[in-house]
Amino acid sequence: MNSKNRITLPKSGLGRDELFKTMQARRSKDAEWQTGKAFCLVYHPGEERSRMIKEAYNMFFTENALNPTAFPSLRQFEAEVVSMSAGLLRGDEKVAGSLTSGGTESILLAVKTARSWASKHKPGVAMPEVIIPETAHPAFHKAFYYFGVKGVMVPVREDFRVDVQKVKEAITENTVMIVGSAPSYPHGVIDPIRELSNLALENKLLMHVDSCVGGFLLPFIQKLGYPVVPFDFSLEGVTSISADIHKYGYAAKGASVILYRNAELRKHQFYVYTDWCGGIYGSPTISGTRPGGTIAAAWAALMSIGEEGYLEMAKRTMVATERIKQGIKDMKGVHVLGNPDMSLIAFGSEEHDIYAIGDELNMQGWYFDRQQNPASLHLTVSQIHLEVVDTFLEDLERAIKQSAKFRVGKLGNSFQVATVKGLSKMLPEGMIAKLQNAMSSTKQVTKKRTAAMYGMMGALSGTGDLQAIVLNFLDRLNSLEQA
Ligand SMILES: *Cc1c(COP(=O)(O)O)cnc(C)c1O
Repeated sequence: MNSKNRITLPKSGLGRDELFKTMQARRSKDAEWQTGKAFCLVYHPGEERSRMIKEAYNMFFTENALNPTAFPSLRQFEAEVVSMSAGLLRGDEKVAGSLTSGGTESILLAVKTARSWASKHKPGVAMPEVIIPETAHPAFHKAFYYFGVKGVMVPVREDFRVDVQKVKEAITENTVMIVGSAPSYPHGVIDPIRELSNLALENKLLMHVDSCVGGFLLPFIQKLGYPVVPFDFSLEGVTSISADIHKYGYAAKGASVILYRNAELRKHQFYVYTDWCGGIYGSPTISGTRPGGTIAAAWAALMSIGEEGYLEMAKRTMVATERIKQGIKDMKGVHVLGNPDMSLIAFGSEEHDIYAIGDELNMQGWYFDRQQNPASLHLTVSQIHLEVVDTFLEDLERAIKQSAKFRVGKLGNSFQVATVKGLSKMLPEGMIAKLQNAMSSTKQVTKKRTAAMYGMMGALSGTGDLQAIVLNFLDRLNSLEQA
């Protein structure tokens, strides 16, 4: 019996129609990624490319990479994916790695490897320490928690890149690894990897670069001529890199690589248990059973998209990013945080409640992250967003104006607010437009009455005391009405 707190297994299985009808219905409230409305979580290479990658996934739907001797195909896919990734990140032929289920697993493994490396190379260290920027991904904290490693957090500078001097000061005899992001997720900036790499060399430490989100985009935008500072194996001190194929590699979810400078270091990642009655058990990564589908799809994505395809999508991504960044910079009341190196944009507001702007955007169907310290909204721009740049910027502009109205709402003087609303309702359509033109520097005329009022509010906001603004607004409204 199904109740509020329990769903039971159906006695006889659902038929195809009912099954998919139910699933389709449940999907209706999901983020609308197909039309480019999701600025996070999803990376879509377009229908045609996607179809090919899905086909590859389905082809190896049943296979299991737990035992690679049973499926040499999967072993070869994996080895080639690792090799292609290492090449993109300027590793030489000694670079070795593994395909993992995602950025988190790659990072867990990098930390676990550092711990095992330390137990051999720094045997005196009881509690190994890993230094991370405060902007580093929570997967590191998860790893510290799982593996009993001490995380040492270092603040970032005003430009949101880690303060190298503070990293230097944080190094103790227990330090085993330094971490930098290329780029960091929250603000999309690359930490000073060269300086961190030098610190690691000087202190004989491991150095991990979290390029989960950047690993499959930075090499291509660099080729396109965008400035990218060195962040990869070309820096001598970098000993491991994580890069997610299920992000800008546009593969199926469940695919990332963890790469090491050499196979010797990678050995610290592996797990072997030789005494089991079920036989000798060896496992390279965290998962036991590993889905053949994701491995095949990762290989198929890299092979079918190829350098030209990635360059094309990287170009689209960067053009969309530049236009959105510029659009935000041109807008009154919002600003881009720092100077993003890639395609991640965080923007905040001095004048408005940025979360209220977020609410308005959500109502228009946009999906993105909300961030804190400082409060901001976060966009992960990818190739699909080139199609929606203008719509997004229009919606953002409207959202800013509408959020200005919430400030008025905060006045607590509902009489005044009601008066503003009431007056705008009473004004004839043409008058609203005229008034808005007179007051707005952008000269944008909106058709809807409410939107026009928000527009006027937006145009007036940020010019001093809120109480005075509203009074001023009422004054102008009335005098024009008189005219
Ligand atoms: C996405 C991301 C991760 C974690 O990857 P998952 O695939 O979500 O586990 C780690 N670091 C950075 C910088 C990321 O962007």
